Formats: sequence, structure tokens, C-alpha cells
Amino acid sequence: MQRSAEAFNQYRETTPSARAVFLETIASEITQQRDVLVATAQAETNLPAARLNGEITRTTSQLQLFANLIKEGSWVEAVIDTAKPENTPAKPDLRRMLVPVGPVVVFGASNFPFAFSTAGGDTASVLAAGATVVIKGHPAHPRTSQLVFETMQRAIQKSGMPEFTVQHVTGEGNATGKALVLHPLTTGVGFTGSLQGGKALLGYAAEREVPIPVFAEMSSINPVVFYPDALATQAEQLAQTFAGSITLGMGQFCTNPGLLIGLKSTALDNFVNLLGDAVAAVAPQKMLHKGICEAYGKGRSHMFSQDNVLLVNESAVPAEMEAWPALARTAAKTFLVNPQLKEELFGPFSLLVECEDKAELLAVLKSLHGQLTTTIVGTATDTAQWKDVIAVQSTLAGRVILNNPPTGVEVCAAMVHGGPFPATTDQRFTSVGTGAIKRWVRPVCFQNFPDDMLPDALKARNPLGIWRQIDNGFTR
Ligand code: NAP
Repeated sequence: MQRSAEAFNQYRETTPSARAVFLETIASEITQQRDVLVATAQAETNLPAARLNGEITRTTSQLQLFANLIKEGSWVEAVIDTAKPENTPAKPDLRRMLVPVGPVVVFGASNFPFAFSTAGGDTASVLAAGATVVIKGHPAHPRTSQLVFETMQRAIQKSGMPEFTVQHVTGEGNATGKALVLHPLTTGVGFTGSLQGGKALLGYAAEREVPIPVFAEMSSINPVVFYPDALATQAEQLAQTFAGSITLGMGQFCTNPGLLIGLKSTALDNFVNLLGDAVAAVAPQKMLHKGICEAYGKGRSHMFSQDNVLLVNESAVPAEMEAWPALARTAAKTFLVNPQLKEELFGPFSLLVECEDKAELLAVLKSLHGQLTTTIVGTATDTAQWKDVIAVQSTLAGRVILNNPPTGVEVCAAMVHGGPFPATTDQRFTSVGTGAIKRWVRPVCFQNFPDDMLPDALKARNPLGIWRQIDNGFTR
């Protein structure tokens, strides 16, 4: 962390264009190592090569996206209020912009060995912001993490960045991560993983003499409400789409639709049977690591041991390390009194909750915790008829989806991958898309500075050519 702090003092002075070249060089080094990276990750994570190749492309595109963002430059939110000496009292010249916070610790995620790990979205957004990073590689893919780190080291050399702009530590057991969060020079933390892990990091951060923010993305069951007209008219197609979403990547996605909700009817019964058949037709595949597979097996058994939770259908019996796709159903009355049914079961599982009427449907929605996503499945007739329920549903999550499955998170400027606790520890931010950079900056106001002492973003002649707010109007 000391090396990171020293590197930060130099790195934060680099120009946005130099940092953009650095990010592009990391992307190019990763692309050159694509085959070896995919083979190594495949051996460590059991994920198929096609998925891992797609993830590498996502990772390099993410780096390019942040390079483009900082080349364009307006993300620093430059605001200028010029002096008004004629006012009483005289108004001084005030200029504000976002600046990087300092060394950040990023925890790699097990379920995205590239896109949410070593050179993934957290790291790319930290480096774009002008902060330095210490990466805690995930213990489930240490060799992949080390190889990606080596591509970043080469990029540091090629683009002339300070040697310790990026560092990498490994080591299984909580002590390493805890020490990194507790270190007095750490200024922020990025994490994707379990609720337990995220809460532990939040606890360490609060214990420090100087508390720091922890941006943890943790737990979400991504409720989907199937409204009546859609169920009556599109059951077959919806069953195929949602069976695909529930079992995609063996359910090892934070946006996996773990909770399905509908009103009791023959149309719902028909849909549940079709969905159960479609889930049962999916062949079990190996999960990411032994711990995740054991947690899924235990959680699944626990779920089926609950009163009034019934199995609808399940796939063929899995082999060792494989997940066991399944669909269960229960009544809203049971769901409302059993808090355990609201907890994330990480894997290819979904629970369907049947509501007697609108009042019960509203009670179920109001009983839910914060979510990353919530999905409305409805026709135009439904969205007109169920406006008040949709209004309640829309308060639950960072991303509200109409007639798309929740899996698949586009990396772009408009994306929100965040949401109220326990989806994340800070619902004001996103961990995917260009908005993710806002986690690693703070606003600074310069009062009464002469032009030559101001950062370029705030100088009178606007040398960076960025969009700025000057005396309450946007201009370039
Ligand atoms: P995890 O157990 O939360 O671990 C993630 C990272 O945090 C690892 O580097 C781990 O390293 C570290 N860590 C965990 N607890 C810690 C603590 N108390 N103090 C310091 N460091 C700590 O996540 P996982 O291994 O990826 O998967 C376990 C479960 O997490 C899954 O079964 C699933 O339920 C959930 N998960 C959720 C998501 C999501 O997107 N919502 C994604 C992945 C996993 P050490 O073990 O070395 O300390």
C-alpha cells in the first residue's frame, strides 16, 4: 500500500491521454495473450472456452470504453462560477472538478475471472480515474489472475507509467484481504462476491481510524413478475427464455432470476409446468469451484427442507462438482412468513411464488430486500392495468427491465449495475459501465485561483475542450 501511495503521487499527475494509452495497451497485451489466458482460466474455473473468450472481449472493450471516456474528458464534471466582485459581499471565483481518491483495493470475483477480476471493470475504472490499485486475486483462479497481472505489468513498462501503479497479491484466507482494507493508506475498496464477504469488508472499513467507502456488489435474487395477459398469451416462449436465463452459466451470475412471481391461475400453472420441463431439459455442468458447488448443494437441500416449498422439476442427477438445475414453487403466504426464502441461492435455481390476489402480490413485493434488477413481464394490456403494482416493483432495484431476461449486463454509459442493500453497499453507484468511475473520485473546489495554478479542466481557455458548466450554463 505504501508503494501504491507513492505511485499515486506520480500517476495522478499523468495526462488523461497518457492514461488512455495505458488502458489501451493493457487491452492489447491481454488480446495478445488470449489463448493462454483462456486455457488457464478454463482449467481453473470449469467455464467453457467460448464463454471465456467472450469475457476477454468484454474486458478489453471495457478498457477501451474507459480510455474513450477519459480522452473525451467531460466526466470530471467541471463547474465554474466566475467571480462577481460587484456583489455584496463579493462572490469569489469558484471552480470544481472530480479528482482521484488515492490507492484502491480491488477484490477479484470468482464468477468472472476476467471481466470482474484482475483487469476487469473495477480496476479499469480505478485506473481511468487516476487512482492506483492493489488487486487481491481470487483464490479460485490464482494462475489466471497472475497472468493477467503480468499483461498489466508489461503495459506499465510500455506506456511509461509508475512501476507500482498496479500491484497484485494472492493468498487464501481472510487475513490478506482484511490487512489490505485496514491499511491506513487504502482509500477505497471494490468487491464482488458473497453477502458475508462484503459485509465483513464493510466492517473492517468502519473499524479503521479513518473509515473508507467499500463498494461491494453482493446478493440479489432479481425478482421477475409475470403479469396475467403475458402468461395467457406467451407461456411457451417465456418458459424457454426464462429457463435459459435461470441456467445460463449454471446460474452463477449476480443477475440470475432467482424469484418468479405470478397470480394464481390456470395460465400460471401451465407456465410453471412448461418452465419446469425446460429447466429439467438443461444438462448439469461443473460449477466454478468446490466451495460454490458445496454452497449450492447445501442451499438447495435447505430450500427443499422448508415447509410448503415444492419441487416443480429438476434436471438429470449431476456428477461431482456439477450444479443441479431446479425449479420450485410456493404460496405467497409461505413466502411472506419465511425470510430464508428471500436469500440468494447462487446457482441454477428459481423459486416461483403464487399470489392469491393483487394485495398479496403487493405484500410480496414490499417484503423484498434491495435488488440489482427487477423484471416486468407484461403486454401493453398488463402495463396499463397493473400500473400501481409496477410502480411498487420499480422501487426495488438499480435496473428495471421490461420483457427481457435480467442476465446479460451491457457495458455502456447508461448501465446501472447496483441497487439498494444487500444488492450493494452503496446504491448511489454502479459497478458496470462508465458511471463506475465515480466510485474512485471526490469533488474539489478551487477558490480564487489564478489560471496558471488551476488544473487544465478548469482553466479559462478550456485546453482539454471538455463540456463544462459555466455560470449555470453548459458550454464547450
Ligand atoms: P467470497 O467468499 O465472498 O470471496 C470473494 C473474495 O473476498 C475472495 O478474494 C475472498 O478471499 C475475499 N473474502 C471473503 N470473505 C472475506 C473476509 N471475511 N475477509 C477478507 N476477505 C474476504 O465469494 P466467492 O468465493 O466468489 O463465492 C462464494 C459465494 O459468494 C457464492 O456461493 C455466492 O453465494 C456468492 N457470490 C455472489 C456473487 C454475486 O455476484 N452476487 C458473485 C460471486 C459469488 P479469501 O477467501 O482469500 O479471504
